[in-house]
Amino acid sequence: MREIPRVVIVGGGFGGLATAKALKHSPVEVILIDRTNHHLFQPLLYQVATSVLAPGQIGSPIRGILGKQQNASVILGEVTGIDKDRRCVIVNSADRADVPVPYDYLILATGVTHSYFGHNEFEKFAPGLKTLADAVAIRNRILSAFELAEAEEDPVRHRDLLTFVLVGAGPTGVEMASAIAILVRNTLAREFRRVNPRTARIILLDMAPRVLGTFAEGLSESARDRLQALGVEVRLGHAVEQIDADGVVVAGERIASKTVIWTAGVAPSPAGKWLNVATDRAGRVRIQPDLSVPRHAEIFVIGDTASLDQDGKPLPGVAQVAMQQGRYAGDLIHQWVIDGPAPKPFRYFDKGNMAVVGKNFAVLQSGKIHLGGFVAWLAWAGIHLQFLGQSSLRLSVFVQWVWTYLTGQRGSRLIVNHYGPERTKQEPTEAPAQLISSNK
Ligand SMILES: Cc1cc2nc3c(=O)[nH]c(=O)nc-3n(C[C@H](O)[C@H](O)[C@H](O)COP(=O)(O)OP(=O)(O)OC[C@H]3O[C@@H](n4cnc5c(N)ncnc54)[C@H](O)[C@@H]3O)c2cc1C
Repeated sequence: MREIPRVVIVGGGFGGLATAKALKHSPVEVILIDRTNHHLFQPLLYQVATSVLAPGQIGSPIRGILGKQQNASVILGEVTGIDKDRRCVIVNSADRADVPVPYDYLILATGVTHSYFGHNEFEKFAPGLKTLADAVAIRNRILSAFELAEAEEDPVRHRDLLTFVLVGAGPTGVEMASAIAILVRNTLAREFRRVNPRTARIILLDMAPRVLGTFAEGLSESARDRLQALGVEVRLGHAVEQIDADGVVVAGERIASKTVIWTAGVAPSPAGKWLNVATDRAGRVRIQPDLSVPRHAEIFVIGDTASLDQDGKPLPGVAQVAMQQGRYAGDLIHQWVIDGPAPKPFRYFDKGNMAVVGKNFAVLQSGKIHLGGFVAWLAWAGIHLQFLGQSSLRLSVFVQWVWTYLTGQRGSRLIVNHYGPERTKQEPTEAPAQLISSNK
């Protein structure tokens, strides 16, 4: 071990950042490695995808967040493997490949990616929502659909372009569907002349029998009623059979659509493969009650990419779990290096779950408290503001929300393709589209 022990943290999301901060006053060297330069507040990604917020309002440079923490440094790079025997992580950066970065303690907090449940061919036609690039690509798709429709003569193409399908009725699907409904019925409706955005169809699909399946049944029902009041068609109980350039097939019926968004499954990062250790069925690393990997007391896996049961049930993949585990791992390492007493095994304190369904309505479940409506919506807004990384973001998001609430105007409705033209490109139609004729 080095004279000053080195803690390498892979991932600057909720878990990794919480560990780094917990080690602020420890006699250790912290190296945080992330493949992006920013910490992302994923719970508000759907607001970037639906033009309420700009990307810069929900992401902060990790280097800036840790700027005042003298014992922490940040490396922009992608971890591709781990050598447990030599105790180093293998990192690729923009100009160097396979660079070993040695550690004394290692924290893996690499989160999840999309899972298409064995149908990876769906990805090309139904992008998921996980990163800022995903959110901007989806925003481009939604806004481009209206632009194409406005310039299109063929009413059949209007229908296909203005049909938006979301696959997966968990919190992300519900929040996206309701936000698209408000975008098209309020903001866009005023600005288009040749198509009527109010006629857009928004369809939310799930194979489960109810929306927001992790919430109590009463809250699921009120969320579904609210979605329907916003004009969202909710179709449950059937798995999607096909997704292609022309739309989706569900329960044998084809729904023609040029914009399909995947809000269904997630798969963990390859941390289990890097470590070559036991995983659960989803591929998440099975960890011990002190969050370490069996037979490797110096390696911890936390957050979405870890699997730990509490009271007979697996902990959910939510930000609170990742943050509490991050803090715990940091405290544990601190106690070790100062020869202090080891903390008790990790225990998750569940503060509750929330999902927002359009304007003025959210559902909130915390212990025996089940709330649906305006009060829950206020609580949702307050808590999300509180958890945003930096005070400048809190102020900027608050001002934007008030402005959007009062005027219906959105923060960012630009179609910008520099994040990934492949994903934003509309698939070509078989018949050439009819553009605005010259006599109109
Ligand atoms: C759209 C959406 C909405 C959500 N809404 C909510 C919500 O309302 N409430 C809630 O509690 N939770 C919500 N979640 C879940 C929550 O965001 C996650 O549970 C949480 O982010 C998990 O934290 P983490 O640290 O495990 O991973 P993440 O926060 O995902 O961080 C992982 C980090 O690791 C980095 N990384 C990954 N692989 C590598 C690699 N190979 N090399 C280097 N860096 C790497 C990534 O760039 C990322 O910065 C939502 C998630 C999404 C996608």
